Amino acid sequence: MEYAENILETIGNTPLVKMNALVKDIDALVLAKYETFNPGNSVKDRMALKMIEDAEADGRLKPGGTIIEGTSGNTGMGLALAAIVKGYKLICVMADKQSKEKIDILRAVGAEVVVCPTAVEPDDPRSYYSVSKRLGEETPNAWYVNQYDNPSNATAHYESTGPEIWEQTKGKVTHFIVGVGTGGTISGVGKYLKEQNPNVKVWGVDTYGSVFKKYHETGIFDENEIYSYITEGIGEDILPKNVNFDIIDGFTKVTDKDAAIYTQRLAKEEGMFLGNSAGSAIKGVLQLKEHFTKDDVVVVLFHDHGSRYVGKMFNDDWMRERGFLEEEASSAADLIKE
Ligand code: PMP
Repeated sequence: MEYAENILETIGNTPLVKMNALVKDIDALVLAKYETFNPGNSVKDRMALKMIEDAEADGRLKPGGTIIEGTSGNTGMGLALAAIVKGYKLICVMADKQSKEKIDILRAVGAEVVVCPTAVEPDDPRSYYSVSKRLGEETPNAWYVNQYDNPSNATAHYESTGPEIWEQTKGKVTHFIVGVGTGGTISGVGKYLKEQNPNVKVWGVDTYGSVFKKYHETGIFDENEIYSYITEGIGEDILPKNVNFDIIDGFTKVTDKDAAIYTQRLAKEEGMFLGNSAGSAIKGVLQLKEHFTKDDVVVVLFHDHGSRYVGKMFNDDWMRERGFLEEEASSAADLIKE
């Protein structure tokens, strides 16, 4: 018989899938590292497990302890699966801009969820950074994960995601492109790939309203770059320790509108029903197409699943309210006129 001992053993070894229709204008081979095959439907299962294992190993997390984290949902899901199997309590602190599905899903897997306002400064006591830190200090036998600065986050990708991409492409990968939030994915995968072949180019996808691109280009943390945005999972108004700017060759920024439209297009044109940051990532690849030539092998990583966004990017009323659906007048209305 062949079976996994528990759900955590099914994390990783995700497929690499060729992109077709959406990248027809790109000369290179574009391959998607398809992370929704993880049991929590996102790449974050990998780092959640690694962060818990490392905290257990050095005594930060003790038997029967409470895990506390500020998370937009995917890290929470990964932590929840590990907490269930390993017998910990989990409290997730989230910003109120996150989709309701993400909150409901976390509650479904037994997490306690605390929701905080998005539109406050990171050091405001109501922000989800501050609330998660305070809960970590005040709850007995608690461990505050802090995925932004916890080095096990990037290490998880250095030890698993990076080697998988290298082996699946038989060492032929030339570019790695991915959305950046905590920076764990880009830093861990990027470091591994560059150690195998220093010529591999690593590009981050950022969003308008986030500080990464400007900081990478100028070394200046510019507060004028910061404003509320809709794209979920990528961009920050802080500089997490997990972003290793030295291994990143450049950033490209994708608008909220493009991210939403390309999230829909991935589903309709590739059969890839994925989250909002996948829309950003593939639009980022298209924006960078001048950098690729025929023999290049471009790997883009898609973080999470479309089910978490059915009330948002996959809902045309939601899209219309934000002015994201402009070319729709044609179809039905025109047919009636004819
Ligand atoms: N996309 C989604 C949907 C995410 O949840 C995250 C994590 N915040 C990212 C992209 C960015 O990944 P990382 O934190 O590893 O930079």
